[in-house]
Amino acid sequence: MPALWDLPDFDAHESVHMFDDPKTGLRAVIAIHSTHLGPAAGGTRFWHYADQQAALTDALRLSRGMSYKNAMAGLPAGGGKAVLLADAARTKTRDMLDAFARAVDSLGGRYITAQDVGMSEDDMVTLSKTTAHVAGLPGQGGDPGPYTARGVYLGVKAAAKRALGSDDMKGVRIAIQGVGSVGGGLARYLAADGAKLTLADVNADRAAALAAELGAETTSSDAIMAVEADIFSPCALGAVLTGTSVAGLKVRAVAGGANNQLATAAQGRQLADRGIVYAPDYVINAGGIINVLRHIDNADDAAINARIDTIPGRLHQVWDDSEASGDTPAEVADRIAQGLIGR
Ligand code: NAD
Repeated sequence: MPALWDLPDFDAHESVHMFDDPKTGLRAVIAIHSTHLGPAAGGTRFWHYADQQAALTDALRLSRGMSYKNAMAGLPAGGGKAVLLADAARTKTRDMLDAFARAVDSLGGRYITAQDVGMSEDDMVTLSKTTAHVAGLPGQGGDPGPYTARGVYLGVKAAAKRALGSDDMKGVRIAIQGVGSVGGGLARYLAADGAKLTLADVNADRAAALAAELGAETTSSDAIMAVEADIFSPCALGAVLTGTSVAGLKVRAVAGGANNQLATAAQGRQLADRGIVYAPDYVINAGGIINVLRHIDNADDAAINARIDTIPGRLHQVWDDSEASGDTPAEVADRIAQGLIGR
């Protein structure tokens, strides 16, 4: 196994902490990529990994991702991430959570945790009984989905301005993949502006009900990426932009809320080569994390919304730079984020 410093995802992490508590079975990694802009903030993932190396790699990759996302959101926060190594039965006990909370607390606020895959809101409340360094607790801003949806809506308008020359959404045709918390909220904003929507969801009843409410059309979740429209908005799964699906897109822009939309970096280039405007996912979908981290500087709703209002400006900055440099929007976003965190 290579030394930690030599791992491809190490990327000069400020510190990586390994915790082992045989009494409770806790095994955890807390990776702190950067505290340049503030305490390293990012969720805790509880997952059964194939091996320890996979857990460490995941922590490093996700932690760096949080540095970039938080920086591009204009937040007073750095980036970090925790992973808890679950056994095959995914046994999670109160004692284990208490031990993990002590681990978080031992870092003295350099790392702030929040909910991620495998951790519930109740788990977060449990952690908060032992450590103050927990974000997104009940009563602190609530569900991030509506905030993410509003930021994505503003980002879709920015993409329309860039690709179509106007952000008047009346009559603009938008295909939305996934109409849950984010995609559903986005659809409502756009319908109110008079956009022409095509909705798809693996839960076809959900798409049909929303379409009936908003006067939209529906299509199958297999067909949504090939719909002829102005903008495609991925709001379901990650990695939907593959070589094949990008080749089949019949749109001028891709702007949506899903995380990790590009299957590989090559699809960023493929979109650019096809002249399709792409809104980098972690820039456009930052509304949720902006809301979750409100307690870092006690931001109220007005301050949260003002931060979300900066998303279109960031996107235009990325697209301007992309046009000038020839780098793809995803590459430009990473470069700007690296500059913001002093790398
Ligand atoms: P959600 O579970 O509320 O909604 C997702 C919807 O997508 C569901 O209705 C589901 O049935 C549908 N879906 C799943 N697979 C599909 C497929 N193959 N084709 C079409 N529809 C499919 O989730 P959400 O909170 O709206 O999140 C959506 C995406 O946005 C995710 O990628 C999530 O990681 C990302 N995201 C969410 C937030 C947030 O604040 N909720 C923040 C940042 C990023």
